Amino acid sequence: MRTSQDLRQALRRIDGRGYKAYKGLQGEYSFPRYRLSIDHVQGDPFAAPSRFSARIATADSGLPPRYAATRSGRIAAGDFLARRFAHQAALQVRGSRGTGGSGRIEIECGGQQVLERNSVLLTPESLEVRFKVGLPAAGRRVLARQAEEMLFEELPLILAGVLLFENLPAADLRRQVETHEDQQALRRQLAERGLVAFVADGAVLPRRSGVDDRPLAGDDAVPFASPPQLRCRLERPHAGPLEGMGLPAGVHLILGGGFHGKSTLLRALERGVYEHLPGDGREWVLTDRNACKIRAEDGRSIQGVDISAFIDNLPLGRDTRAFSTPNASGSTSQAANIVEALEMGARLLLIDEDTSASNFLVRDARMQRLISKSQEPITPLVDRVRELLERHGASTILVTGGSGDYFDAADRVIQMAAYRPREMTGRVAELIREHPSGRLPEAPLPFGELPRRKPLASSFDARRGKRAVKIDARGCHTIFYGRETIDLALVEQLIDRGQTRATGLAIHLLAREFFPRGGSLADGLKWLDEQLDRNGLDVLSPFKVGNLARPRPFEVGAAINRMRALRVGATAG
Ligand code: ADP
Ligand code: MG
Repeated sequence: MRTSQDLRQALRRIDGRGYKAYKGLQGEYSFPRYRLSIDHVQGDPFAAPSRFSARIATADSGLPPRYAATRSGRIAAGDFLARRFAHQAALQVRGSRGTGGSGRIEIECGGQQVLERNSVLLTPESLEVRFKVGLPAAGRRVLARQAEEMLFEELPLILAGVLLFENLPAADLRRQVETHEDQQALRRQLAERGLVAFVADGAVLPRRSGVDDRPLAGDDAVPFASPPQLRCRLERPHAGPLEGMGLPAGVHLILGGGFHGKSTLLRALERGVYEHLPGDGREWVLTDRNACKIRAEDGRSIQGVDISAFIDNLPLGRDTRAFSTPNASGSTSQAANIVEALEMGARLLLIDEDTSASNFLVRDARMQRLISKSQEPITPLVDRVRELLERHGASTILVTGGSGDYFDAADRVIQMAAYRPREMTGRVAELIREHPSGRLPEAPLPFGELPRRKPLASSFDARRGKRAVKIDARGCHTIFYGRETIDLALVEQLIDRGQTRATGLAIHLLAREFFPRGGSLADGLKWLDEQLDRNGLDVLSPFKVGNLARPRPFEVGAAINRMRALRVGATAG
């Protein structure tokens, strides 16, 4: 094993030489407290920065062994240390030290959610941190003196503040791990009690802005307070009991005037499939992990989806039991989004009128009288929402300010008034008696079994130009898979660019190892999740990278479903 002094001398030897000389530094070096590894050197100062990692035995780090002992501890402590690295880097790194990205030292860490990622990997044996370094150059000449400052002054200070427990803010670390463990415990209680969602009293749901996911600051935010009829009490192993609104499996409406906080509540529920940082305001908002946001998404591609429960009798006799289109309408896209979610095992559908196709949600009594069912292909959701629950086990939480026709289908009705929820189920029951909707139920046939689609392996071609595999991501919402661009702009529960990258690679893994066996999409996503449980995110990449975060199976499936090259094979019930 080469030592840090070997690295220093090697650096000095290449000073002023061409950039490629940095390649010779790849490999491992022992530093006094840890090992530094130069995993991959960038091609030039403008390319993506070089990949580095540092590793220490967990015992030598001084971290309490209990953090590495549980999955929750590993994820939460790993997340904490990644953020800590970013914080230390901001303090220590001078930054620009020459051409292009020279001088940068960076790590991937998330936003307000705490996700499993591979920038920090904690196990009972070792703690590894993966980061990027912009190796410095003047034009294309090695700046060894600058590199020496980065690797022997800045980096050791950063790493000392991340890898050594003695230098960590221990109370903050503990709080983050315990919050995560408490969130897991609450999730288990949701399942035991048949709840699909929980929003704690005191939760702060509104965000600073549409582009700033931190909590709305100051006295402006009205904390959540459960209506007494829905209040329940759950136990947190660390922080003690907690009360809040528990929603059982069922069909639930959130009503209220415009600007009273309906969409804000629904968005918090969408994000409740993930864990949040302590102090986020939503750390005690927990939704069934199998909850899917459903919205209209016109223009998306659909391949072989049975949307006949919602859309039938299309003009020109088009079959909707295996419906394909490169350019879906609002209602067909929303129907496909529901059917695909069910196919992947969704247990809760989250729907906001603001982002729905209105003709998909309801057809009122007057419209039913004017346009007979035989002339209307759409069976609106209002006529299917109970079947979704009773036949397919999927609950719905629907935000609506506009249509009272859903009253008849609802188990619970909640009104948001000035950001405070009120239970209205009793009042609504009276109203149903006093003012019947006059609608005729119009589902022609029962909402039957769903076919299981089998993606053809030939749909997935990762080649681009001279590269046999070229898969990358831009931001959170675009994957480039071979020559295909997958648009995920309206897949709202994909929240981190690390998840997006991982999704692109996960599709490739499925395309190589699972779909060629003729497996279904649903089984493929289960298989993928098992692979990730067993082997971690590193199974996705042939290289040692630190820029992946774990996506849910639903988002991987959503990306596959939106691929324009997707073709699906024979389906069976
Ligand atoms: P709706 O969907 O009922 O029309 P929104 O959820 O869009 O209303 O909320 C309207 C505005 O009120 C948003 O700017 C949102 O940030 C803010 N808001 C939502 N909930 C709260 C709250 N609990 N406290 C303070 N402001 C809130
Ligand atoms: Mg709204």
